[in-house]
Amino acid sequence: MKIQAVRGFKDWLPEDFAKYEYLIKLAKNILKTYNYKEIKIPILEKTELFVRSIGEFTDIVQKETYTFQDRNKEFLTLRPEATAGICRMIIEKGLFVNPKPLKFFTIGPMFRHERPQKGRLREFYQIDVELFSPLNPHIEAELIFLAMEILKAPFSSQEKNIYTLELNTLGCPNCRIKYKEDLLKFLEENKENLCETCKERITRNPLRVLDCKNETCKEVVSKSPIITEYLCKECKDHFISLKEVLDFIGIKYIENPRLVRGLDYYVRTIFEIKAKGLGAQDTVAAGGRYDYLLKELGGPELPAIGFAIGLERWAISIFGDEENKGILESKKILEKLNPDLFIILLGKELLNKGFELATLLRKKGIRCEITYEEKSLKAQLKNADKLLAKYSLILGDEELKKKSAILRNMKKSIQEEVEFKNWEDLSTKVLKKIKNES
Ligand code: ATP
Ligand code: MG
Repeated sequence: MKIQAVRGFKDWLPEDFAKYEYLIKLAKNILKTYNYKEIKIPILEKTELFVRSIGEFTDIVQKETYTFQDRNKEFLTLRPEATAGICRMIIEKGLFVNPKPLKFFTIGPMFRHERPQKGRLREFYQIDVELFSPLNPHIEAELIFLAMEILKAPFSSQEKNIYTLELNTLGCPNCRIKYKEDLLKFLEENKENLCETCKERITRNPLRVLDCKNETCKEVVSKSPIITEYLCKECKDHFISLKEVLDFIGIKYIENPRLVRGLDYYVRTIFEIKAKGLGAQDTVAAGGRYDYLLKELGGPELPAIGFAIGLERWAISIFGDEENKGILESKKILEKLNPDLFIILLGKELLNKGFELATLLRKKGIRCEITYEEKSLKAQLKNADKLLAKYSLILGDEELKKKSAILRNMKKSIQEEVEFKNWEDLSTKVLKKIKNES
């Protein structure tokens, strides 16, 4: 029987890789101009880290993590997100003493045992961005602006914007006490109309019911009390200031007073960015503020805010998929996968020399293919065509004696003679011609 990949775990074929790499590069360039530093944290952490940070009673920790005991019987978990790991790193390495703001980003796979469906995988990539510092509405607004800048980078013209920002505040632990009480009461009263999962959530994690994707739950929740009516003066003022800054810098947003996050540690500002054309799983990026997480994990009290972009969903919103077209043609990006040049050698004696020439061309950055086969010109040209090579360079014994080669533009089916003094000269000339024409 054929062995298949684990459900919800995806291969990246070269075409996928090219698209993801393109997006990652854009994101990295922007992040660096905002002075974010790239880091890498482990994929595997002690289970306790996630229990203490994300919260024991969240969906993620209760049923979505890949948790197991290793050979030493230690409980380990494949990271479901990166924030907790970054906090652990900051505490463990004592980075909290460094000048503020501390700004980090990391890009890599996250693991959640969810039901695989369109836009929902069990291994997925996140571009995770975190900022640790005393916060103010300007810093928060700038971080939200940054998330938008990254998402829009592949097209960056105003009219094409396919992303909408949803904004809410979760208040501080103080405003949440009374709110949670009232929400709990409301949910208890409407219990029979909630799905089975939400019935369990009521006591464990009532806020999460607001995030249920089930239609009948959504219906119930649409009449629930909203946090914005329970805010203390400071939280209310803070939220107003944040919105003023967003207005000032020209970021449009929709206030969604029932927006919550799946993780326990958020306070005050939270946001989601949704994209058109993604169906039910339309949140491309999400984030918020978490002032007490570092302290909870044994570090000092240091406010923080961050967001994560789901790479696969972002890619679908840009390049489309089987169902929707996307807003950018991937053709140009995928063309980069094709060889610039296919080297055709006619004659056994030429094989060693061809090796030399290919190495020189590659050192100059030309994407070269060469198969070292003693096949006819016709057969080799056919192969070059199949491999979608842009050019072929044809060399035979006769031509070599005359110090000339043939460079063939495969698409246009035109060719020209290139005279040369030596390999170095030939490779320089070929590079020049290819560059000029592309
Ligand atoms: P959702 O409500 O879609 O489950 P979430 O609240 O669990 O999202 P976060 O933990 O905030 O998501 O993760 C941030 C982003 O990571 C999401 O907006 C999404 O783009 C991506 N993401 C989260 N879970 C998955 C998944 N299972 N498969 C693919 N991408 C995901
Ligand atoms: Mg989720």
